[in-house]
Amino acid sequence: ESTSAPNFIRTQIREEIEQGRVDTIVTRFPPEPNGFLHIGHAKSICLNFGLAEQLGGQCHLRFDDTNPAKEEQVYIDAIREDIEWLGFEWSGEVRYASSYFDQLYDWACQLIRNGLAYVDDLNAEQMREYRGTLTEPGRPSPWRERSVEENLALFEAMKNGEFGEGEKVLRAKIDMASPNINLRDPTLYRIRHAAHHQSGDKWKIYPSYDFTHGQSDAIEGITHSICTLEFEDHRPLYNWFLDNLPVPARPKQIEFARLNLNYTVTSKRKLKLLVDQGVVDGWDDPRMPTISGMRRRGYTPASIRKFCDMVGVSRAAGVVDIQMLYHAIRSDLEDNAPRAMCVMKPLKVILTNLPEDHEEIFEVPGHPAREDMAMRQLPLNREIWIDQEDFMEVPPKKFFRLAPGKEVRLRNAYVIRCDEVIKNEQGEIEALHCSVDLETLGQNPEGRKVKGVIHWVSARHGVDVEVRNYDNLFQVEAPDRDKDGDFLDHLNAQSLEVVHAIGEPSLRQAGAEQRFQFERVGYFCADRHDHGADHLVFNRTVSLKDGWAK
Ligand code: ATP
Ligand code: MG
Ligand code: MG
Repeated sequence: ESTSAPNFIRTQIREEIEQGRVDTIVTRFPPEPNGFLHIGHAKSICLNFGLAEQLGGQCHLRFDDTNPAKEEQVYIDAIREDIEWLGFEWSGEVRYASSYFDQLYDWACQLIRNGLAYVDDLNAEQMREYRGTLTEPGRPSPWRERSVEENLALFEAMKNGEFGEGEKVLRAKIDMASPNINLRDPTLYRIRHAAHHQSGDKWKIYPSYDFTHGQSDAIEGITHSICTLEFEDHRPLYNWFLDNLPVPARPKQIEFARLNLNYTVTSKRKLKLLVDQGVVDGWDDPRMPTISGMRRRGYTPASIRKFCDMVGVSRAAGVVDIQMLYHAIRSDLEDNAPRAMCVMKPLKVILTNLPEDHEEIFEVPGHPAREDMAMRQLPLNREIWIDQEDFMEVPPKKFFRLAPGKEVRLRNAYVIRCDEVIKNEQGEIEALHCSVDLETLGQNPEGRKVKGVIHWVSARHGVDVEVRNYDNLFQVEAPDRDKDGDFLDHLNAQSLEVVHAIGEPSLRQAGAEQRFQFERVGYFCADRHDHGADHLVFNRTVSLKDGWAK
């Protein structure tokens, strides 16, 4: 199953295993439950769970839930569902950083007792000012030299809710002159009078990401704590806590470059804005780069895993072309999606040499190269629908579809010739009168070549289909790298087009989330929520044409 390409992290860990420096690796995927997972998270999931699979280790799912104001149970549920849908299994129970709050509090008290932490009364703005800049060292807070007893008493009072939000923080006492700003007395605890989705009202103070993450890793026996490059400068702090606390294990932080995709945004904050402003129809709108949105759009778990594998893991930041993602799903569906015919812009064709009650049923393959797929039944009657784009009254040269006096093959059926164009009083085309060459079923016509093949649907048996054609959500490559404007200025107004199409009758049996190639049109997936036997709704996953330049 795990055929994925090697990467620098896997190579490094393999070496450690061979040299006996690690026994069993333990990784973790640590989302904050403040939104739905997106394609960037998929990269981290494939990496962390993938390493555990490939190297015989374990991967934990741990919710990094230290900011109750932004977190919700619905996000926890959605994240679990997405990981399972991608086909990964975490080891043991789901874990929560919040279940380590007692231990973290004790460790904070220990830092205070060792003179390594203090309660500061500076407000956020003053702290920023005292912190200094890259070129200028910071200055010590006037509260930095409080006694251990006073710090312990104040910290306990903070915990007991005796101060308002923002009145005090607990900080590590490290080095206000460090060239690494993360070491200039980072904040360990903030006051937040907010109920927490796991711990309820128990806490009035919450640990910072930095004070929580490495210690949680250590508590769980994580061997390799893999994160994105923006945490590289936090690594000395990560290690400082491990050095100064009696942690039970010594995890190692390794950084890799985050995934960026063009024509979209991969930031939960921005995606939440799209949801909150009603730009999209929820977190799982098929235009969203969320895992649940991609699922609803018709992506398979295999295609997302394949894509993550193609993208690879490195320390070089870059932007991946969304065409690569389209390529990954297209090649999966090319091999695995059954075929069906669906006419997007119907044009009536009357097959004049068939009797009024003609009914003929063709048994045709579900997929041209997959004998394991069920055959489907395709009825042909005197009246059929073809696509308006497959007919031209005055065709250019090399138009191999239908035109007056010209012939074309109906896919899986006969060759027909257009004899007459029927128009209404306004001169608009209403129907075509065509004749069927009954000698052409499964064989070439006598003495002439017919190049074109078009799709069609029986008018008597065709079913109404609501087709939702999705396109990129943004019309520019880098919507969130606009220096002067807002990413919302670059929305693609044509990102959703609803079409009332007519599909072959076998589509009535399609279950939600079933995927098809609509021949000559693209790949489509029955909508997870809105599709049903009495209202067929298909989302366009991706077009047929591959635009990915390797
Ligand atoms: P966002 O900015 O979208 O909120 P985040 O990093 O804050 O992302 P977390 O919930 O903390 O979101 O992410 C969980 C894990 O997923 C982290 O280990 C993080 O490094 C990883 N991750 C998040 N975004 C990406 C990305 N674009 N590429 C690779 N890994 C990512
Ligand atoms: Mg984060
Ligand atoms: Mg974030």
